[in-house]
Amino acid sequence: MFNIILFGPPGSGKGTQSEKLIATYGLKHLSTGDLLRSEISQQTPLGLEAKSIMDRGQLVPDEVVVGMISSALESNPQAKGFLFDGFPRTVAQSESLDKLLSLKNTEIGVVLALEVGEEELVSRLLNRGLTSGRSDDTKESVIRARITEYKNKTTVVADYYSRFNKVVHVPGEGTVEEIFSGLCSEIDKRMSL
Ligand code: ADP
Repeated sequence: MFNIILFGPPGSGKGTQSEKLIATYGLKHLSTGDLLRSEISQQTPLGLEAKSIMDRGQLVPDEVVVGMISSALESNPQAKGFLFDGFPRTVAQSESLDKLLSLKNTEIGVVLALEVGEEELVSRLLNRGLTSGRSDDTKESVIRARITEYKNKTTVVADYYSRFNKVVHVPGEGTVEEIFSGLCSEIDKRMSL
């Protein structure tokens, strides 16, 4: 199994690159944002609780996302590997993920950190908000709140995995293809180790 964390701020292109990566490497895509939006559209109690938090640009509680990831791991016993997108977003989530993976005798192979400047992020997200139907992409104040949550709570996830030498920084500006080839070359290096 080879498991990847695609890491980076909101708007850094994790969703776009994930689609290409799972097709190339045959991984199972686990996006906590997508899992939460599916709970919201099904109007489950979890979705109703998460929606108001997401609409403020804040992080939903660790137990909620860890629970979702744990069941997704259980329901995909045949996976060749997982691509985590938007997860883990806190150190507590990282520690829980490492425990869940070690119970399956596997681990994170690499953390790919997409690097994109803040003003570029805001303009990409406002642009996405014109068509995505995502309420958290339409207001600049909510977008800025998400970037602040990222700086305060999520950048430390990269520090956590750096201790294990697992983090690689990849430029997240350029064409989709250029960024994708930067990601692939890092994965190929680590997979062949
Ligand atoms: P983006 O990367 O553009 O912010 P996501 O789809 O990953 O979009 O997440 C949207 C929202 O869902 C976040 O702002 C947050 O409220 C919630 N969320 C997603 N993943 C997590 C997570 N791992 N921990 C806590 N909250 C999360």
